[in-house]
Amino acid sequence: MTDKFKDKGFATRAVRVGHRRTAEGEQSEPIFPTSSFTFDSAEQAAARFAGEEPGNIYSRFTNPTVRTFEERLAALEGAESTVATSSGMSAILSTMMALLQAGDHIVSSMSIFGTTRVLFDKYLSKFGISTNYVKLSDLDDWKKAITPQTKILFLETPSNPLNEIADLEALSALAKENGCLLVVDNCFCTPALQQPLKFGADIVVHSATKYIDGQGRCIGGAVVGDAQLVGEDVYGFLRTAGPTMSPFNAWTFMKGLETLDLRMKAHSASALELATWLEQQSAVSKVFYAGLPTHPQHELAKKQQSAFGGIIAFEIKGGKQDAWKLINSLEWISITANLGDSKTTITHPATTTHGRLTDEARALAGITDGMLRISVGLESIDDVKADLARGFAAI
Ligand SMILES: *Cc1c(COP(=O)(O)O)cnc(C)c1O
Repeated sequence: MTDKFKDKGFATRAVRVGHRRTAEGEQSEPIFPTSSFTFDSAEQAAARFAGEEPGNIYSRFTNPTVRTFEERLAALEGAESTVATSSGMSAILSTMMALLQAGDHIVSSMSIFGTTRVLFDKYLSKFGISTNYVKLSDLDDWKKAITPQTKILFLETPSNPLNEIADLEALSALAKENGCLLVVDNCFCTPALQQPLKFGADIVVHSATKYIDGQGRCIGGAVVGDAQLVGEDVYGFLRTAGPTMSPFNAWTFMKGLETLDLRMKAHSASALELATWLEQQSAVSKVFYAGLPTHPQHELAKKQQSAFGGIIAFEIKGGKQDAWKLINSLEWISITANLGDSKTTITHPATTTHGRLTDEARALAGITDGMLRISVGLESIDDVKADLARGFAAI
């Protein structure tokens, strides 16, 4: 079905794509909390099950609310297909289960979400899928790690939490030369700031839990790409294995998309101001934010992204002791590992999000004991600074 909003501007697509107004004339998109759907006749039921007629069957794999979210996100990433999933992790799992088999090999950036690494090392390995890790920004490292068995290159850019940037055009060319797929976790930027498919990536995965919701309410994810790899292959896994997004969550995420453009601009503006301020604090040895001109990949970030997002990492000179002291002296900034929320959050990656890595893996990924990560929310930035100043005063 063609959607008259598909070729409109980003903000218009974010608000309008995918809503097929029902006979009730509703202005806001409806939620369809139904497990199954009825058919007009035995013939129609048979045609739906045989895949000869499009339409709803059963909400494990066809639900109108979920479909509206999928069509809207696909339109924002510039893709043919989106498959919504129950979480960001199940988006990554579904991609790998659908596209890989025993004997296949993944080359992954070492600077990825800690749980993704556990998924690769502890679980995919049980089924004969091996993974090697490379430095995100070192193209030679990627080249050396690719073997004839390599099927997927996997990365996040900017990385979590260090804000390292991948050269998407160079890596997609490398993937094509070697017959691999480039899979990008676009959680930190969202399509409002970066559309990896435009730079040659084959598949984008999302934790919708983060900025797509944007208000810390629901868990969900998505896989975005072309009609074959995502629309057929990943969809086929989802329909069979069932890591499905609920209609209620799909509705929440769809509403999140309506304000995504505005929110990402606001998160980015506040984060840039805060990163600049953090650089001036005497207790801070280093700030990791790609929006700073001092960031070694600032130019590459400017090429790929329209702004730099809301995540800042910084290093406290006094190590873990002072980092924890800062956290514990805050009045109201939320101590939680979640990110991409309208509420500003702070976490100590070495003992939380990256706590399950071995000391060696953590050191290689550049996560030091004095590092803190802030997800800059939508509060008044002067208040965020004032709360952090309280933390710095306690050190
Ligand atoms: C949170 C996160 C995930 C996992 O998403 P869930 O929705 O928590 O399952 C994957 N990648 C990145 C970069 C994340 O931040």
